[in-house]
Formats: sequence, structure tokens, C-alpha cells
Amino acid sequence: MNYPIMKKLSLLAGLMTWTWLVPTAQARLNVVATTPDFGTIAKEIGGDRVEVTTLAKPTEDPHFVDAKPSFIVKLNRADALIEGGAELEIGWLPPLLEGARNPRLESGKPGRISCVEGIALLEVPSSLDRSKGDLHAAGNPHYTTDPTNIKIVARHICDSFCVLDEKSCEYFKANLKKFDEQLEAKTAEWEKLLQPFKGNRIVTYHNSWIYFAKRFGLRMDLYLEPKPGIPPTPSHLEEVIQQMKTDNIHVIIVEPHLNHKTAEAVAAHTGASVLDFAPYPGGAKGTEGSMVQWMDVLVHSLAKALAENAR
Ligand SMILES: [Zn+2]
Repeated sequence: MNYPIMKKLSLLAGLMTWTWLVPTAQARLNVVATTPDFGTIAKEIGGDRVEVTTLAKPTEDPHFVDAKPSFIVKLNRADALIEGGAELEIGWLPPLLEGARNPRLESGKPGRISCVEGIALLEVPSSLDRSKGDLHAAGNPHYTTDPTNIKIVARHICDSFCVLDEKSCEYFKANLKKFDEQLEAKTAEWEKLLQPFKGNRIVTYHNSWIYFAKRFGLRMDLYLEPKPGIPPTPSHLEEVIQQMKTDNIHVIIVEPHLNHKTAEAVAAHTGASVLDFAPYPGGAKGTEGSMVQWMDVLVHSLAKALAENAR
């Protein structure tokens, strides 16, 4: 018996079995999303036809994601990359993409899905100015805090998936329809719930919630940070405290990755409540994997805090 040949044959048989299995394994689109909002929408639309990896954790600052070397491998193998754009990922994504050398993810390719397309960005400055460390130099990139924008992003992702996997297009469209119906029904409910608080002013740590505020008729335009990404200074906080007293502001919103103690200190001076606000699905208990669940928790917790603090 010629053992080396036997060995080669069994290896070949193994490879053939593997090759036979590959088409099933590859039928799923391999998708990388930068942040958990896009990753969640991709899963809700892509269902079992996509494999989604999300780079940023739900409790991580989306402007400063810990760029692990394993991300390069994931990007190298991806069929598609879903990003927020508007410079949200400018501080960490470009070097990863450079390392990944994946032509499918080049700008303008169907695999490069930039969700900002079709979004009416707020706070777009007339000229780019990063000199003072402003992280929102291209406009406010936190647009998925408005359910209407979530709908736009979901459609964009669905259309992109249809181009990348034509055979599954009807399936993606059916998922989008379900997603839209659920979101629309819930949005009406959320608007009703926040209706009594129209015009209320709320302090937020970072300027992440203006889209949310605009949708629900609230004001979230006073921040603990003097500029997005610039840590609070004593003089700025003093101004915020004075403004809170003048305007009767009783709620401060803080995201999990930001300094809770600073918010507590301001709250102690003003008698306000500090409310944890998860910027992404999975950032609060029971919200993982569903944009609606996430928004539902936000709206209910805010309505409760505003009702308790109404004076
Ligand atoms: Zn920001």
C-alpha cells in the first residue's frame, strides 16, 4: 500500500467535501458594521442571509473605538462594510481599512455602505474647522437617534444588500417591510408619550441627541462638554449650572462611556436627576438586537424622568 498516495487522496477527499460545503457557507453575506445601530439594522434586514460583525461595543465611544488588530482580519474578509460617515469613524476606521486591503470595501463599490447618504444632517458648519478639536466638524453624525432616520438607513441597507445578493432581495424587502411597520407604529406611541413634555429643555453630556430632540419636540442643546469631544471645564460647567437654574432644567442625560461623576456634580448643584441613556442597542438591558426595543427603553425612561422632575 502506498501510504503517501493514500494520504494525498484522503486529503483531496477532505478538500472536496470542504469545497462542496463552501457554497452554503458563502451564501451568507459577510458584513462588518462600525457601530451597533448599523449592525442591529443589518441583522434585522439581513436575517439569516447575513453574518454581521459589529466593531464598536454598545458602551464604547463611537468617536474613539479601540481598534483591535482582529478588526483588520474581519474587514479583509468582508463582503460589505456599513459605516455612519459624516466623520463619525474618522479617528479609527481609515487605518483599519488600509490594513485590510479589501477592494470590495473601496469607496463607490457596492460593498461600501455609507449610511449618511440620504440623511439630512443637522449642524453642518459652513466651513470645516477641526482646530478646536470639534469632533462634529462635518455636521452632527448621531442621526440614528431619530426613528425617521432609522427608516432611511434601513432602506439604504436593504437596497445595498439587494445589489450584493440579488437572489435574497425579496427576503430582505420582506424584512424591511416588517421593520418599517413596527417602527412606524412605535414612533406614533413614542410621540404620544413625550407629547406632554414638548419644549422641555434637557442637558446632555455630549451632543448626541439633537435628532432625537427634534423628532419629539424637546430641546437638548445644552451640553456638559464645551464642544463635542472637549472635556468639561469648571468655567463651562458653572455656565451650565446657571443656565439650568434659569431655565428650570431637571434632567441630565449621560451615556455609559462618559464621566458620570461630572454629571452627578452638576446634578448636586441644581437638584437635577442624572439619566443613563444608551446611545446604541445593547447598551441598556434587554435592548440588544432591536432598534425598536432600544428606542422604547429610551423614550420610556425619559418620559418617567421628566414626569418625576416636573415642578
Ligand atoms: Zn459625537
